Amino acid sequence: MVDVNSTVMQVTISAGRLPQFREILRAGTMFSVSGFDVSRCAQNFRLTDSSLMIRFNESTSFQELTEPDSPLPDEAFRFRNHSELIGLANTNTQLPDIIGEILSVRSTVCDPPEEKNRVMVTLKLDSDETVTLSFFDAQAVAFHKQLKTMRVDPKVMVITSINPKIVGGRLFLNATSGTHVYFDKKTRAGDALFYKLVARDTGLPSAAPLLRSYAKVETMTIADLSSFIVSAESQEIDFLCTGKVVRVDTEKGWCYVACSKCSKKLQRTESAFTCGVCNNPHAVGALRYRVEMAIADDTAEGTFVWFDGVLTKLHSIRASEAAQMLAEDGVNPEDTRLPPFIADMEGRTYTFQVRVTAFNFTEHHKTFTITRIAEDHGRLTEDGVGSDGDGDDDDDNPNIKTPPAADDQGGTSKARKKTDAGTSNVVKKARAG
Ligand SMILES: [Zn+2]
Repeated sequence: MVDVNSTVMQVTISAGRLPQFREILRAGTMFSVSGFDVSRCAQNFRLTDSSLMIRFNESTSFQELTEPDSPLPDEAFRFRNHSELIGLANTNTQLPDIIGEILSVRSTVCDPPEEKNRVMVTLKLDSDETVTLSFFDAQAVAFHKQLKTMRVDPKVMVITSINPKIVGGRLFLNATSGTHVYFDKKTRAGDALFYKLVARDTGLPSAAPLLRSYAKVETMTIADLSSFIVSAESQEIDFLCTGKVVRVDTEKGWCYVACSKCSKKLQRTESAFTCGVCNNPHAVGALRYRVEMAIADDTAEGTFVWFDGVLTKLHSIRASEAAQMLAEDGVNPEDTRLPPFIADMEGRTYTFQVRVTAFNFTEHHKTFTITRIAEDHGRLTEDGVGSDGDGDDDDDNPNIKTPPAADDQGGTSKARKKTDAGTSNVVKKARAG
């Protein structure tokens, strides 16, 4: 609630008393309130700048005012700019509001909605910085449906109570259970930005509908890919990325001996191979590629894993043949140096398909599996779609070792100072809800 002095305070009503008030609790309504308790706000996930909050008790009187005789402000948002959001990121202290121009919306919501859902909105803030805002599950579905029913794509979005996070040095905003969305002219703040944008418009028709589902294979930047798996619910989905190999991780080797029955990694004993999965102490082994590389585009860097099917196809040489080439006396193939054609991948740019699986959503598993490759940084070749190749690669997945991903989580945020909320500009909102 907001008063005539533009002071915004959080109000809580216990569930037991809610039926008494629920009917008249409508956004935009004016009330006179008397006989309530005042207590301190929790210090985390704060929805207002005030350190106090109002609690309705059994003697609270709550009367609707129908005469518009009060100079109450129309609305009150706690907009934060890009650098303030960075200051708040990962602190969980404030759930601020933002306003921005909608550049694109991507959604995993299908019709009818399946279990795990996510919508990512790219917004341009006042300072021209773009940020990614994510909705999850029921909120994602509701947002998707709301956009779908709109006749014209909205331009402006006001979003309340978002939780800023920094991941891999980039700012991401997550919707919370308290998040409300207002499009275009639904708010005064939105209205002002809307007309500013319309005035700037070139008059060209807009290129494509705003809301795009993640197609079977959607192009993604590596930063968006990293953000997709952060705090998202587990799901299986493919994306297309284009990036340059920054370095090949030589520490992790380039191949392993796989069980010819189940493709899992075999344990080398003195004279034989053991497969723990098949429970076979004398398993037949086959050499398979597995190479980790750091690949970057101009948004971020990620760790990607190339498996046997993709690398065999790319270089037209099997891992066992490569091992023959490099064979050294008394050295196991998996311990030999990198085949030159793999070392040569460093510095090259590839367009490749990435499969995000449930595996990517477990903590610290920040490697992405490359499932297909465009031979020459262009279109994917159709024969790369082979289902057997993909299947093989999936089998390999449980062998992926955990990359040292923990470091890129906190570094940036720790280095930043928390913004003093008291000095920020606050726009007030009168309408509850
Ligand atoms: Zn096996």
